[in-house]
Amino acid sequence: MEFNTELLIRIAYFVAAVLVILGLKLAWSKMTRQTDTQAPSSKKKKARKASAEAATLAAAKSVIIIPGYGMAIAQAHHAAWELASILQGKGVRVSFAINPVAGRMPGHMDILLAEAGVPYDIIYDLDNINNQFPDCDVALAIGANDIINPAARDDTSSQIYAMPILNVDKARKLIIIKRGQGSGFSGTENQLFDEDHAHMCLGDAKDVVEKLVADVKAL
Ligand code: NAP
Repeated sequence: MEFNTELLIRIAYFVAAVLVILGLKLAWSKMTRQTDTQAPSSKKKKARKASAEAATLAAAKSVIIIPGYGMAIAQAHHAAWELASILQGKGVRVSFAINPVAGRMPGHMDILLAEAGVPYDIIYDLDNINNQFPDCDVALAIGANDIINPAARDDTSSQIYAMPILNVDKARKLIIIKRGQGSGFSGTENQLFDEDHAHMCLGDAKDVVEKLVADVKAL
């Protein structure tokens, strides 16, 4: 039998090339499998990480929650009480501050807080709580705007001048939950949103407060 050396060499080259390709494919599939399994676990870790606001609230000695018309619109009062009771469980002193003109009818906020089951002894009228803001670590305004606008206290040219407000700007930190930086019922701009110690948490009040509940629980 006569050997065709050239043909044998060609076959050997072909087999070697096929083996190299198979080897490369195997190595690639192993690499991509590793990446796929790593990705979900790092995503999970991110999802578990609590927000900075949750950490601020849980680290506070005292928190004053200020409900406004946006809380009523979003029906966030049950979540607000859940957040308050979780914080109380972590040793935070929590109070609710009611401005008599909050919402759209007299007693609007009192009705909502009663419906949510907030105990009366942690609900304060404006006159009884305004002097407590300088000692308050975090003021948390939920869907409030005009009732916390310092222009009503400081700006004689403002159309809301002399309207009673809660002095949330005196608190050490301020978290404001609303959907944007828009004005409230009076149409007056609120400079508070730009203050250094104020942090805006943008979104529907119920969604944001429920997220805070989950984040504080995760700490
Ligand atoms: P506000 O000044 O009307 O402000 C409420 C804020 O809630 C708005 O700026 C809005 O901002 C936000 N908001 C609306 N829907 C929201 C949602 N789903 N989630 C989160 N935020 C939401 O209300 P207030 O601070 O309670 O003050 C009450 C005002 O109503 C006063 O001017 C008062 O004089 C007047 N008023 C009161 C009565 C009364 O008897 N209580 C009666 C009539 C008028 P975004 O759009 O940026 O979210």
